Amino acid sequence: MKSRKSQQRRSLCAARVLVPGEQGGYQIRAARLECEGSLLKTVELFSPEEYAHKVALWQKYDAQLEIFDARYLLTPAFINAHTHLAMNCFRGIDLAPSGVKHNMVENLFFACEARLSAADVRAFTRMGAYESLLAGVGFVWDHYYHGQAIGEALADTGLSGVVAPTLQDLRGPGKAQWEEQWQATEDINRGTKFREHGIFAAFGPHATDTVSKELWQKISTACAKLELPLHAHLAQSCEEWQRAKTLHSASPSEYLERIGVLSSNGAHQLFAHGIFADRQDLRLLHRGKQTLVFCPFSAMIFAFPANLMAWEAEKVRWVVGSDCAASNDSMNLQKELRAVSGFPLQQLSYAKYYQQYLEGQASSPLPLAAERHKIWEDSTKFREADWLLAKVWDLPGELHPQVKVGKLSPGYLANLVVWDSHAPAFWPGDKLRSLAFGDTAASIHGMMVAGQWLGTSGNFAASLLESAEYKAAEAEARERLHALLAP
Ligand SMILES: [Zn+2]
Repeated sequence: MKSRKSQQRRSLCAARVLVPGEQGGYQIRAARLECEGSLLKTVELFSPEEYAHKVALWQKYDAQLEIFDARYLLTPAFINAHTHLAMNCFRGIDLAPSGVKHNMVENLFFACEARLSAADVRAFTRMGAYESLLAGVGFVWDHYYHGQAIGEALADTGLSGVVAPTLQDLRGPGKAQWEEQWQATEDINRGTKFREHGIFAAFGPHATDTVSKELWQKISTACAKLELPLHAHLAQSCEEWQRAKTLHSASPSEYLERIGVLSSNGAHQLFAHGIFADRQDLRLLHRGKQTLVFCPFSAMIFAFPANLMAWEAEKVRWVVGSDCAASNDSMNLQKELRAVSGFPLQQLSYAKYYQQYLEGQASSPLPLAAERHKIWEDSTKFREADWLLAKVWDLPGELHPQVKVGKLSPGYLANLVVWDSHAPAFWPGDKLRSLAFGDTAASIHGMMVAGQWLGTSGNFAASLLESAEYKAAEAEARERLHALLAP
């Protein structure tokens, strides 16, 4: 792991910085930012006239100051609220074999994952981390086996995040190692070196059907004692729901409620997927402490997407993640946001009247226009850039008591992206819509994570890919994958 100068200071100013709005949402202002170590220490805002005056002075007296003119927009780096970065090694895996279609997690991943060593996980996590950085993601909520190796891989690459070493004691490839992974959780939590890199810990029970009641309760107690968040999968498969019904006469969400997990005193609880959670379950999951993660493209592969309109109606707090490359094949969060935006109107494609129209049983498609208008009116926020971006900035950045991230504000982790508005993917670049609905990864001019610039500004992607660190990481990951695939 690279060491860091914990008190290193950095000053930058820019004509266009995205900061919290005075009445909520965001605003773009001229600003001067001071970083100390991994954190933003001060963020001073100016009117354009004041800024022009000040910057002329600063240029004279502060040779260290980094200045970005109006061509560039500085925003928080994105936060991916649910990842398994090491699973980038499964990208493009053949999903055709029979059995996989029923339960991909159990029939495919568990078998492959049982063969991974800690060194494999470190090597493969680096690849997922580099892919994330190149897409403007500066912070991840990762959940996987060999947690210590994940923390080290994040530090190797410069990505920050919360590591939840996978805990499972009933089923799954980590069954025999849960005590070791518990220790890894505590070690990451205690490690000041990790903290300087912006790396923190969470408890990571895998799911309701892979973790015993005793372990869930032990985790709940430890979350409260250590003030650590809980990050788990919940209601992600029919099999999980069926097991909960058979064994506990409850849905997975009701079961967690019954054994005291949902009402425990711990920090935030982050639950991925929530597909097999009915309205009754959803009402158990919005008491201020629970947040669901919606991973659209992944859910379309391993099951199907949850009904976001029901989540909204039940006032569930939710954020957006990508899950793993194996069930998604991309770690680009902007693509997920654009998918989120389209969900409300997709209902129409499967609605009763449209089915009748398809079958020639409706004399006219015109009633569909009225229905579309109604859904459009009921889902206006799904097309608002601020609302979408909060799912990958502020909301997932407020879930860990030890770190704030996702805003350019004092005390927050210094994670930011410098976008080049002259680059074609961002041009003309004066609207947040470009970030919420576009894929602007190719217009990243520079990126800072935990107070450190990554690569070379102005040549961001190429400088990462041509670095000795990336070349060594890719070669090691390739060799390890080759060895695992060898007959
Ligand atoms: Zn997952």
